[in-house]
Amino acid sequence: MTVNNVFVITDNQNAVAELCSGARQLGDQVSVVLFGDKNQAAEAIALGADQVYLFGQSGDSVMIEAYSKSIAELLHAEKADLVMVYSSVRGKLIAGRIASQLGTSALSNISEFTVEDGSIIVKHMVYGGAAIRTEKALSDTVVVTVGTGVFEAMSKDATRQGKVIEVNPDVDNAGIRVLETRPKQGELVNLSAAKRVVGVGRGFASKDDLKMAEELAALAGAEMACSRPIAEGEKWMSKERYVGVTGVVLKTDIYIAIGISGQIQHMVGVNQAKTLVAINKDKNAPIFKHVDIGLVGDIYKVLPQIIEKIKA
Ligand SMILES: Cc1cc2nc3c(=O)[nH]c(=O)nc-3n(C[C@H](O)[C@H](O)[C@H](O)COP(=O)(O)OP(=O)(O)OC[C@H]3O[C@@H](n4cnc5c(N)ncnc54)[C@H](O)[C@@H]3O)c2cc1C
Repeated sequence: MTVNNVFVITDNQNAVAELCSGARQLGDQVSVVLFGDKNQAAEAIALGADQVYLFGQSGDSVMIEAYSKSIAELLHAEKADLVMVYSSVRGKLIAGRIASQLGTSALSNISEFTVEDGSIIVKHMVYGGAAIRTEKALSDTVVVTVGTGVFEAMSKDATRQGKVIEVNPDVDNAGIRVLETRPKQGELVNLSAAKRVVGVGRGFASKDDLKMAEELAALAGAEMACSRPIAEGEKWMSKERYVGVTGVVLKTDIYIAIGISGQIQHMVGVNQAKTLVAINKDKNAPIFKHVDIGLVGDIYKVLPQIIEKIKA
């Protein structure tokens, strides 16, 4: 079953493919609200949008959340049944604001959707990933935030036709003035698109030792990822690379977890991997309950041997 009208709102062009694909599964009509240019709008149509509403980009003086009132008016006028907002920091702000304008509340980080008798039923993790809550949305327009990794992206079809509507939005800065804009410091890595990933955890005793895992990743053509303490506690890797309930959700062919215990908050980010491999010196580590291949051993003995074998 589907609803009539699904809207996708994203400030990240990389999320358009997956969100449009999800919107196509759930709705008859798919509209995208974009903060970008006409090329990005054309790409959204090729990826499944029937129409794209082009709002201006955030600039030196405007933040995109300042368009929330105009977006809410659009959603009301177009009788949106479901609004899927990409769960970036800005996206979450927009979702909260438009939900409040529409007299409802936003449901965050949805991982599963179904439509039953015209009602939208969603699932999302609660208690830091320890449980899943199922909710039936009762409002006319249901506002949710969704991350990457929930839907499989559709491939581009450049022959698809759609409408691009340029919007001249009212700007409501809600008392916040932009004083300065600076490029974000950090890495531009799209881990959710990686097919092979090597993840490192607190089993490594120092940052320097991560070189072993980096060598394995290079040999396997894999991206590097980590558990949260490695990024947030030790700060050995950037926050863009930590995986889990509050980090990135992977959809890899293979995930190799090295020195990671396998706490639920990490595993929800990796359990969609087609093949899960773990190396841990503790045979009772929780990660071994989830793996396809488990290797009980000390990183410092096992990893150099694996690398040597691959090189041979
Ligand atoms: C609300 C909340 C949200 C969270 N979100 C996330 C999240 O998104 N992502 C995330 O990763 N975590 C998250 N966490 C933290 C999570 O609960 C765990 O604390 C974290 O994942 C543990 O990281 P780790 O496996 O690297 O470390 P540890 O749990 O300390 O595990 C280290 C593992 O290394 C093994 N080991 C040690 N030395 C060696 C060696 N020489 N050779 C082989 N194995 C060795 C040990 O046996 C152990 O199993 C969250 C926590 C909370 C409360």
